[in-house]
Amino acid sequence: MLVGTPLLDAAVWEGQIFLDGAWCETDGGAADIIEPATGESLGRAGRARPGDVARAAKAALRAQREWASALPNERAEVMRRAGLLLNEHSADVTEWILRETGSIRPKASFEIDASFAEFMEAAALATRPNGELLAPVEQGQTSIARRVPIGVIGVITPWNSPLILAMRVLGPALALGNAVILKPDPQTPVTGGILLARLFEQAGLPAGVLQVLPGGAEVGEALVTEPGVGMISFTGSTEVGRRVGTLAGAELKKVSLELGGNNAIIILDDADLEVASSAASFGAFFHQGQICMTAGRHLVQASVADKYAELLGRRAEALPVGNTFTQEVAIGPMINSRQVERVDRIVSATLAEGATLVAGGTHDGLFYQPTVLTEVAPTMPAFAEEIFGPVAPITVFADDQAAVELANRTDYGLAAAIQTRSLARGLAIADQLKTGIVHLNDQTIADHPSIPFGGMGASGNGGRFGSPANHDEFTQWQWLTFREKQKAYPF
Ligand code: NAD
Repeated sequence: MLVGTPLLDAAVWEGQIFLDGAWCETDGGAADIIEPATGESLGRAGRARPGDVARAAKAALRAQREWASALPNERAEVMRRAGLLLNEHSADVTEWILRETGSIRPKASFEIDASFAEFMEAAALATRPNGELLAPVEQGQTSIARRVPIGVIGVITPWNSPLILAMRVLGPALALGNAVILKPDPQTPVTGGILLARLFEQAGLPAGVLQVLPGGAEVGEALVTEPGVGMISFTGSTEVGRRVGTLAGAELKKVSLELGGNNAIIILDDADLEVASSAASFGAFFHQGQICMTAGRHLVQASVADKYAELLGRRAEALPVGNTFTQEVAIGPMINSRQVERVDRIVSATLAEGATLVAGGTHDGLFYQPTVLTEVAPTMPAFAEEIFGPVAPITVFADDQAAVELANRTDYGLAAAIQTRSLARGLAIADQLKTGIVHLNDQTIADHPSIPFGGMGASGNGGRFGSPANHDEFTQWQWLTFREKQKAYPF
């Protein structure tokens, strides 16, 4: 058992779910939290049942009314206190992120720093102007357009970056007066949910404003169809996102879907290949390639493709692989054997169809060697599918227009990157890419609470997270008019 400081003391939360401000038993019982690097149990988390969702919604609906009418600065104060608590306990939180998700230390730091920034952005959001004074339609009338909370927001998150992916919703949603029911992936219940419940509990969030129900697909579906939940914010695979969108649509519920990606990094012939290969190595292998923004397709101009493959292969071979908690490594374990089998299937099938292995291609249990494949045709699985593993498939193109066509040859549209010495050439390509995010002379993985994050096409349904978008995302317009004198009508 991983023993925590008072914030994460297992005696408080073990085997329980967080509902109506209290840690309580569930009929679903409890399940082991498995450390991917060792296969050992880090403790036992409560495992919610669909029936818990109705209880959670009842508590949330009651608590939300009062929370929405609290002074905005009181909501901001809770956000600030929770953020400071996160920083205070960052050593403890880091250990949990390393062990529960198999992240390396810099990834844990990134998640903690970004989550702290989410708390602070959320605090500022709470006290921002909340509407507009409209031109009156009639004499004697005051007409206002104001943003009001949605009510109860159901949040469903994956296991790969569970803390920040929950925080990017919880911060703005709670700051703007909503209540939240969070369903983290059952593989990462602590950093995806229990930690947040503990932070908000200690920061003074009123009972019932946040519930945390670790659970599987059946709990997720109960949340999507629960009548008391007004909006669903889902982050996960495109396949499950379609199901969530269909269910939410039938309930006429607002739904934000942040889904998979198959992101291209484009290497033009005028790029500095040493620098480009270092950026691409980070983009492909960071967190074992288990990031929605991972550079999953390396599109390289023909005249520099051999050199690029050699440099990237060399970088892949030099990356140390191992237990991120006990060793200084660059690559940790993948989350589970199902994901390893998926990566292995895609690599084997791509090699069988004629690609060449430059580096990696093997694994020891959950530890997959960083892999580089070259001569990958667009029809091969490593190009066509989201791999979600440490694999860099290289595909060659002849000219800039061919690069654009290859990059857009996917239903996904999350992130893209372009490496070139010519900004004009890079911008001309960027203008034609169908992605929500484009970086020139950088790689594909980047996020911050101050930017509007989200994808196009099969990567999402147009929702965005981040400060320019949060107000719109987690509130709705209400037209309010008032007049001093009552208005009489002819009948
Ligand atoms: P997943 O879709 O299998 O699971 C995500 C969440 O949905 C989990 O909490 C899971 O329990 C829940 N779930 C599963 N079936 C459900 C159902 N029928 N109804 C409701 N909820 C259900 O995804 P994953 O394998 O955990 O995560 C990897 C995927 O997430 C990748 O495709 C990755 O690209 C994507 N992702 C996207 C973003 C983004 O911001 N666009 C961020 C991280 C991950």
